[in-house]
Amino acid sequence: MSEQNAAAQASDTRGDMVEALVDGRISFHELPADLSGSEAAEIRRAALEKMTGVRLQDMAHYSMDIETASRRNCENMIGIAQVPVGIAGPLVVRGKHTNGNVFVPLATTEGALVASVNRGCAAIRAAGGAQVFVEDAGMTRAPVFRTESMAQTQEFLAWIRAHEPDIKELAQSTSRHLELLDIKPFAFGTSVWLRFRFSSGDAMGMNMATIAAERVCRKLIVPRTGVECIALSGNYCVDKKPSAINWQEGRGKRLHAEVVLEHEVLRDVLKTNSAALAEVCYRKNLLGSIAAGSMGFNAHFANVVAAFFIATGQDVAHVVGGSLGITNIEARGDDAYMSVFLPDIPLGAVGGGTSLSTQNEALRMLDIIPDPEKPGAAVTRLGEILAGAVLAGELSLMAAFTSNDLARAHQRLARGKPHNPSPGTPFPGTQADPSEA
Ligand code: NAP
Repeated sequence: MSEQNAAAQASDTRGDMVEALVDGRISFHELPADLSGSEAAEIRRAALEKMTGVRLQDMAHYSMDIETASRRNCENMIGIAQVPVGIAGPLVVRGKHTNGNVFVPLATTEGALVASVNRGCAAIRAAGGAQVFVEDAGMTRAPVFRTESMAQTQEFLAWIRAHEPDIKELAQSTSRHLELLDIKPFAFGTSVWLRFRFSSGDAMGMNMATIAAERVCRKLIVPRTGVECIALSGNYCVDKKPSAINWQEGRGKRLHAEVVLEHEVLRDVLKTNSAALAEVCYRKNLLGSIAAGSMGFNAHFANVVAAFFIATGQDVAHVVGGSLGITNIEARGDDAYMSVFLPDIPLGAVGGGTSLSTQNEALRMLDIIPDPEKPGAAVTRLGEILAGAVLAGELSLMAAFTSNDLARAHQRLARGKPHNPSPGTPFPGTQADPSEA
């Protein structure tokens, strides 16, 4: 067949597939397996354009390895959603694996977010850096089992306790990087949850934990006890839902960061003072969150976590966990001590979306390169940087809440007359900083 004929036949075949998709004779996932990722994406786009009447030209522009992405990261792929990436920093971070300046990539569509974090970075720099600390709380998976009675529930729990070493050995055989740290049972009536907690090296570990939990249930626990496993994830894990257990015990990484801001930094960089900051923190982050029954005693953790997660290839649904935690501010005379605590931050330096090209560039820019000689060091560094960035975002927004108050106070004091805000005057915190979650 001549080259021209081959091209014509390919285009006929392509046209047939587009028509078959449009007519509903085949579904998007039923295209021939021998098509390349980019060919399949193009055919799906052409069909969607016909079905919806919308040109999908921008989704078609990408530089990432679509063959890998369409196999590993996204089914029925049609193209790319672009998100602008901004840079904040340098952020000065002082932790176990980070000591010095880093530039923080933030992928967001929310105007003012990067500027706000950038201002926080300036304050942290002026204060000599943020002290950061990352705990490995472990990745968890909790299957749920059904027994016949409370008596069988107790027998089942006794069997699990007696066979922990066997369970550990089998779970760890599924990966070179997985260690089963413990099993936390929870039971009532005929329902039993076993919360397996793993350390997973530099990976976030959710797939690894799921694979290991499946193996021990299928090959050991169910056949040896006769107790049925009803669901591999029994929601006591807890994945992608805000929860008290993750708050208390942590999940993924538990992040801490602190800084002491001297009076001059508060005044010159953040346009605020320690008393105003502490009061806003008390009434907003503490009392307001209590009043609302919120689990996020902070100003906007989720903003920074989401932008950092998108830029660095994390599982974005874990922003749910990233919204939990506390921002604490104490006035120390004219200076202010500030800390953030995030108990539920699943993070990975390998696996998931971290190998996609733009995300991987961002990770390498942060010098996040897993080293087989130092397991867990790269992901700890990633957590240290995120902790510092969240601190920067918090102190900037908290200061913005106070600085408009200050502006009013200055006007009142300096001009000797009360300030009457016009109907259009923004409330404190709504002007210079991004909206909160
Ligand atoms: P993964 O990409 O499935 O696994 C990470 C792999 O990296 C492991 O197989 C491990 O190999 C390998 N690896 C190489 N170097 C490593 C190192 N230094 N440290 C640790 N591992 C290393 O990723 P995952 O972290 O387990 O899971 C993340 C993915 O899970 C995300 O895509 C997320 O969206 C998804 N997810 C899954 C579920 C679920 O229930 N399955 C739920 C939520 C999210 P070895 O195993 O050979 O050691």
